[in-house]
Amino acid sequence: MFDYSSPIKDLSGIGPKVLEKLTKLKIKKVSDLLLHLPFRYEDFSQIKNIADLIIGEKATITAKILNIGQKRIWKRNMTITEALLEDETAPIMSVWFNQPYLTNTLKKGLWVNISGKISMGKRGLYFSNPAFEVLGEEPYDKEMLHTAGLIAIYPETAGLTSRYLRLKIKTILDNLINIPDFLPNFIAKEFSLIALRQALQKIHFPKNKEEIEEAQKRLAFQDIFLLQIYSRNEKEKIKSKLAQPIPTNLPLIKKFITSLPFQLTNSQKLASWQILKDIEKPTPMNRILVGDVGSGKTVVAAIAALNTATQKQQVAFLAPTEILASQHFKTLSNLFKNWPIKIGLLTASHKLKSGLDKIDIAVGTHALIQKNVKFKNLALVVVDEQHRFGVDQRASLLKDPKHSAIPHLLSMSATPIPRTLALTIYGDLDLSLLKELPKGRKKIITKAVSPTNRGKAYQFIENQIKLGRQAFVICPLIEESEAAIMSEVKNATAEYEKLSKDIFPHLKIGLLHGRLKAQEKEKVMLDFKNKKTDVLVSTSVVEVGVDIPNASVMMIEGADRFGLSQLHQFRGRVGRAEHQSYCFLFTETSSKNSAERLKILVESEDGFKLAEKDLEIRGPGQFFGSVQSGLPDLAMASLKDASLIEEVQQAVNLFFQKDKIANHPILLERLSEFKEDIHWE
Ligand code: ADP
Ligand code: MG
Repeated sequence: MFDYSSPIKDLSGIGPKVLEKLTKLKIKKVSDLLLHLPFRYEDFSQIKNIADLIIGEKATITAKILNIGQKRIWKRNMTITEALLEDETAPIMSVWFNQPYLTNTLKKGLWVNISGKISMGKRGLYFSNPAFEVLGEEPYDKEMLHTAGLIAIYPETAGLTSRYLRLKIKTILDNLINIPDFLPNFIAKEFSLIALRQALQKIHFPKNKEEIEEAQKRLAFQDIFLLQIYSRNEKEKIKSKLAQPIPTNLPLIKKFITSLPFQLTNSQKLASWQILKDIEKPTPMNRILVGDVGSGKTVVAAIAALNTATQKQQVAFLAPTEILASQHFKTLSNLFKNWPIKIGLLTASHKLKSGLDKIDIAVGTHALIQKNVKFKNLALVVVDEQHRFGVDQRASLLKDPKHSAIPHLLSMSATPIPRTLALTIYGDLDLSLLKELPKGRKKIITKAVSPTNRGKAYQFIENQIKLGRQAFVICPLIEESEAAIMSEVKNATAEYEKLSKDIFPHLKIGLLHGRLKAQEKEKVMLDFKNKKTDVLVSTSVVEVGVDIPNASVMMIEGADRFGLSQLHQFRGRVGRAEHQSYCFLFTETSSKNSAERLKILVESEDGFKLAEKDLEIRGPGQFFGSVQSGLPDLAMASLKDASLIEEVQQAVNLFFQKDKIANHPILLERLSEFKEDIHWE
């Protein structure tokens, strides 16, 4: 016997070979097989009389095998199985190619269901390679599993047939007494969701399309529910910890703001205020600040850092790369040059000059700070371009990690995310948005360039460089895989050679790709920043956040392969100073769709709007980036459905109002499994 969480090998008839194939499909437990969902359905819902069949249509019949035989065509190395079938209206032939074992199951005198396409041959109508189901000696003595109705077709990558999977799933559903359901009953009821067993029955063996939809909704709902419960639970856990409260020193902050060479935007003011209010509390802040490239996130973080550092509490300011860290170090040193604040830079190649306990704000790369460094009284961690930084990681920075206070966290991200997705992806974080760019920014002139104008674009770059500017050239994106990284490198190298030899022989060209070591990448970026190179050829790895104010041209090859958000990110690499800047989009196809998509980018500069469009066009997967959601495909696809997400959010609210996780052992168990499935980094 087996139950829902038994290993799959406990099912009868699963030998080592099949087991290996199932493992390839990531099916290890009985429940995995039940949740191995069809990716499409064949519609055989009408059983027809043979006399009514029409050439070219797909149909299902119930018939008796009058005769069956096999012949071998040696010349073509082929076996043909032929059967003569009959129902009460007429006879018909059925033919199968290269399936010699069929005669083991299909025998004269048996009733069968046959489903497939009707072809016309010399001898009249026939079925060609149809699916079949043996009913037995009588026409009606077995449920019509494989043929009548909508037939589930499964991903069959490991060489297991859909027929096989369907049979196994049927056996499981028929024999499983208990299917543990983590969705609380009152939630299912309130949101009119069918029971889990029903949903599984309907998704694998639907009678009609409505049943499929009902089942899909229920299954997507429960996965998104779990994810949101998980985030909310994490959020509550963090709130139950202690942090050092940092009172807002308003006069000091006003003084700092008036000393700035610009006026803060309204979004910046609001975000700063939200952050200051958070760190006043005795529980740890867990907030993400999202704003387009150039929206001015640094100064917002600086305000919180100033308020903290002037109260003799330490701040850690972390960046993903050395260049970004030293850039932040310079920016902060400049912002605080008239303030009694000691700032230190700490990276692989730059050690602190004094002890860490003398430093108020330590700027560094996170890898480094995590390993060796213990702060004296760290109260605020700012993390740029990395979404998550767990409570444990924060605690590990403290001199005494057992100390009960945990530092406040401010994450910053330049990737605008559609609102509904933010609820799911950043569910455990509070969100501050910088919706507007500072006033007076020059609009980046964006143009889709046709292949015939390529020469002109090169000429344009040449002129910009003569004026003292620099240019990026981004190579086309290639689908992710090991082989692809290699071909991406090859591509970028080829582009680099073409530009250095044929197009710009007299200019200095740099090359950046994913196969370079971190230090090599840093050097290439640094050379570009220091104007040692004029043009930087890069794959999509080009660092987010690195400021090259002198660059004025962003040229993107194969622009149709990138998402709008990603293109927008690239575009944000230029236009960071007073120079008029340009973004050229080169496409490989002349398809109307791609032209329309790029037009959106040409016309809009609003990262959030572009993200919404991207979600519509390309789905949610891209927004997860390196984040692994642990979400099944069905739930992933459903993240596009704003009304579903909002419904789930209501459900989660209702759940926490009326109930708690501790009352639901199955939910508790799923949450802990889920924790192992998701990797936010
Ligand atoms: P990002 O959000 O991409 O990190 P930065 O913080 O690097 O943006 O800011 C980009 C540039 O804009 C910096 O040079 C910064 O000094 C400037 N800046 C920030 N806020 C404003 C503002 N309100 N008005 C004008 N310039 C601003
Ligand atoms: Mg930044």
